[in-house]
Amino acid sequence: MTSSEKANNPINQIPKIVHKKMNDVKFDRIMRAGDSVLTGLRMIRRPHYNNLAADQRRTINRDKWHAMLGHCNENVGNTTAKVMGIVLSGEQQKCKHCAIEKIRKKNIPKYAENSNEKPGELMYLDISSMKQANGGGNRHWILLVDRATDFKISWFVKKKSDQIEVVSKFISNLKASNNIQVKYIRLDNSGENKALEQECLRLGLGIKFEYTAPGTPQ
Ligand SMILES: [Zn+2]
Repeated sequence: MTSSEKANNPINQIPKIVHKKMNDVKFDRIMRAGDSVLTGLRMIRRPHYNNLAADQRRTINRDKWHAMLGHCNENVGNTTAKVMGIVLSGEQQKCKHCAIEKIRKKNIPKYAENSNEKPGELMYLDISSMKQANGGGNRHWILLVDRATDFKISWFVKKKSDQIEVVSKFISNLKASNNIQVKYIRLDNSGENKALEQECLRLGLGIKFEYTAPGTPQ
């Protein structure tokens, strides 16, 4: 086989599987099908260790441990591991689920303040950033909550400044397609939020921005 034949041979063009949990995956079934090849992979289900007592391994990833213990705080996790003789590996990343809880506690009152409020009248906006990007390369998470209905919508974006377009578009659509007028947005006074206000002003959306200091305790 010459080198150009080799390059054109579909067997040499089999793509690699790219998956963060699967290293060195090779196709172990290759079948000719006319001019091309079919590739396959035999998959074996691994037992899922949800049950602490059934877990025989003594080293557990910190993030997994955090989730296994029902999203406890890091100190509780460390102490429990120590008592159980479990070695924790890796650095604990900012947990998405815990971040959601934190945002809700920070910006959203526990009880409805005004039950006569119309949908869309007051919305809470927050953006939270993760250390690690998700599969699509997005590391910032935008959450918009309507106080009257508790309706929530969120977006994952690459840059914090992406929220300007995403949120202003959503609010103009609410007005244009659903006749819902957002009157107030409550958010912290970061640079991206100020820029969002400018954009909403430019679009003539008639929204009043109410700023809270960042990291305001609940
Ligand atoms: Zn968590």
